[in-house]
Amino acid sequence: MSLEVAKKEIQQPTPPTADRNGNGVAVSQSVATMNRLRLNPNTEHKPDSYEGLQLDFSPLLFSSLERYLPPPMLSYSRDSKLNYMRDIILRYSPEGERTRAQRQREYRQKIISHYQPLHKELYTMNASNFFAPSFLKAINENREESFRRIMTEPSQGVFTFEMLQPHFCELLLSEVENFEKWVHETKFKIMRPNTMNKFGAVLDDFGLETMLDKLMEDFIRPISKVFFSDVGGSTLDSHHGFVVEYGIDRDVELGFHVDDSEVTLNVCLGKQFTGGDLFFRGVRCDKHVNTETHKDEVLDYSHVPGRAVLHRGRHRHGARATTTGHRVNLLLWCRSSVFRELRKYQKDLSSWCGECQREKKERQSLSISTTKQELLRKEAKAAT
Ligand SMILES: [Zn+2]
Repeated sequence: MSLEVAKKEIQQPTPPTADRNGNGVAVSQSVATMNRLRLNPNTEHKPDSYEGLQLDFSPLLFSSLERYLPPPMLSYSRDSKLNYMRDIILRYSPEGERTRAQRQREYRQKIISHYQPLHKELYTMNASNFFAPSFLKAINENREESFRRIMTEPSQGVFTFEMLQPHFCELLLSEVENFEKWVHETKFKIMRPNTMNKFGAVLDDFGLETMLDKLMEDFIRPISKVFFSDVGGSTLDSHHGFVVEYGIDRDVELGFHVDDSEVTLNVCLGKQFTGGDLFFRGVRCDKHVNTETHKDEVLDYSHVPGRAVLHRGRHRHGARATTTGHRVNLLLWCRSSVFRELRKYQKDLSSWCGECQREKKERQSLSISTTKQELLRKEAKAAT
């Protein structure tokens, strides 16, 4: 079993495999994994010719890349293969990066210029209306003891605390419903929050980006600076904000995964539901992501509306089935570009990984016992 990394959906030409779900969202992670490129080219395959087409890259590039396509794709139409390959090339070229950012801006602009917000007061940060007084007080004091006073830490690195006022939760729920009604009525093709959720909406896409940026900078970063400094908690500088929806007619559960974030804020907004517990199974680096869970890393957590859960993105987790009713959660994936840049050059142990820690301890105790044995040997020798 290999553990999934939930990623933000990337708006790109729709790959051929996404046609199956008919809603035009980017390909799901599982399909993407299935359709991974081959490591070695299929030299026997005779690629299509891409000459004479309006392309932003050389036709030869497509012909040679075609030999690396996953075997089932070779029989697809030329257009399908072309879309798929263009998608890959764009993803890895700096120009593609720019094009993608540009496209995302246009996509957001298109929504924002057409969508009429229902509760305008949600779109600018108004701390005293949004947050529970205890939370605000702790943030204002900005000290570890103050944060600790409002928090519980049921398992190392998972913090829970009362955060949002019930009224704010209601307004946000109703805004999301209003947005989805608009999407439905206008048949606007929206992107889903990430590769693992088919329901839900990206709040940043319909105008809440500025407010959520404030939420990260002024409220989540001060806490993360104290508790998650080892994963860039003090340098969080971008976010992905969205809601996920669970229930019988929505996403039911969420598989075991890690988030594409340094720090994740997860707050239940309501409504009525049973089930939907979160389960946590320890923090892991890339190398150790599929290793076993230690006993003290097992945590099951039941959502309480208004109450936040804050954890490292690399803290492995999932959500059990929401068995009745309808559950909506607000998610804020917070990222640090500094941390990500530094990680690239860091080959040694990850201080925050449970398995790296265990390995380190093991090596230390081994070296201690070796030293002890040596000392004993020396003493024995001296005695003779
Ligand atoms: Zn590790």
